[in-house]
Amino acid sequence: MFSKILIANRGEIALRVLRACKELGIQTVAVHSTADADAMHVRLADESVCIGPPSARESYLNIPQLLAACEITGADAVHPGYGFLSENARFAEILEAHNITFIGPTAEHIRIMGDKIEAKLTAEKLGIPVVPGSDGAVKPTDDAHAIARNIGYPVLVKAAAGGGGRGMKVAKSEADLDTALSTARAEAKAAFGDDALYIEKYLGKPRHIEIQVLGDGKGNAIHLGERDCSLQRRHQKVWEEAPSPALNESQRKEIGSIVAVAMRKLKYRGVGTIEFLYEDGNFYFIEMNTRLQVEHPVTEMITGIDLVNEQIRIAAGASLSIEQSDITFEGHAIECRINAEDPRNFTPSPGTITYYHPPGGLGVRVDSGVYQGYRIPPYYDSLIGKLIVHGRSRVECMMRLRRCLDEFVVDGIQSTIPLFRDLLQNQDIANGMYDIHWLEKYLEAKSD
Ligand code: ADP
Repeated sequence: MFSKILIANRGEIALRVLRACKELGIQTVAVHSTADADAMHVRLADESVCIGPPSARESYLNIPQLLAACEITGADAVHPGYGFLSENARFAEILEAHNITFIGPTAEHIRIMGDKIEAKLTAEKLGIPVVPGSDGAVKPTDDAHAIARNIGYPVLVKAAAGGGGRGMKVAKSEADLDTALSTARAEAKAAFGDDALYIEKYLGKPRHIEIQVLGDGKGNAIHLGERDCSLQRRHQKVWEEAPSPALNESQRKEIGSIVAVAMRKLKYRGVGTIEFLYEDGNFYFIEMNTRLQVEHPVTEMITGIDLVNEQIRIAAGASLSIEQSDITFEGHAIECRINAEDPRNFTPSPGTITYYHPPGGLGVRVDSGVYQGYRIPPYYDSLIGKLIVHGRSRVECMMRLRRCLDEFVVDGIQSTIPLFRDLLQNQDIANGMYDIHWLEKYLEAKSD
């Protein structure tokens, strides 16, 4: 086992990783920018190193500084959290070259899954259902019209180098295709410096359902069920729940085992998430995240498995300690992402938290690095915490969530807590009847 882990991240996830390390008896090193000197992850770690100025590029993304921090402190492993360098294959390789363990999958797997076209081809080869579409990038010599006709309209033109939904255009019919191609090409070129495009069937009202996997890199892999993350704003998840209100037991088993078999074939190591769009009973692969996800606690709440603990054990060379038959799903969990934002227009609201009172009680978990008197810096994303609630049923979970949101006080800044109070009044939410466009439509109707 490792003796000292450097946590290359900040905020709630740095704290989450730190907690797992402490429970394993492993020493922790926090790194921080000058803007985060007062952060909770810095206070709770055994040691801390300042790695640069506020800009993430010069601190949390600064590989030479992170390496130096490992050298100074003698850390033998790095946990990247999510975001920042967590899906950077080069970072994983550089660490390994310095005999420091990257707590994550192999650089090769990070690279494959980081390339949208390669990821889709790999998923297909592994037997994972994908969205019908072009075989890789559309070449200049290809007849894009014939490809689109074959797929069937509406189609979605996507940038191979895409990210954050940029370079994506819908063509409803043949008449729209040329415009969709040229605007997507221009957008992709400007955003990514790469204008390669591919075409997919456009799904009109899908849900976002993702499967959590765990592999030991030795050919053992299991799934830990799904999370439904359909409630999104601008492709950012806002509310996540497990299990999905849209799936039954046999659908869950079927997609879960397809994914677990695929991960065994791949000899995948560590935690990963296979993301799908789900429509009319069918799953369509969109991407694989080769890291821990923001919403991992809902899976932990219904399985009782500590995903970060497993990640660390596996990175240290251990085999899976659990088999598929050991995984059972108990009750229902919902996570609300609490952002420091105006709940009406989502503009960031950094500043000092003058009063802070998180909820508590049975089935309640708050993952957050903030405290009373903490100043939220304006340089990073606006997530200040996650409220995760568990109940024996979805109804009980929602009743408990309502109670928790009433208790939750964050003064001095604006937060998205009122948005969740509103959502809990909504009949569609109560019924679990929502797709990936539902939240945007709801917000639009509310602002009218
Ligand atoms: P990016 O890497 O740019 O985020 P993704 O492929 O993950 O691109 O897609 C981003 C989002 O776009 C998805 O979460 C989904 O909301 C939507 N999307 C992607 N592919 C399709 C599709 N074929 N049909 C409908 N919506 C899609």
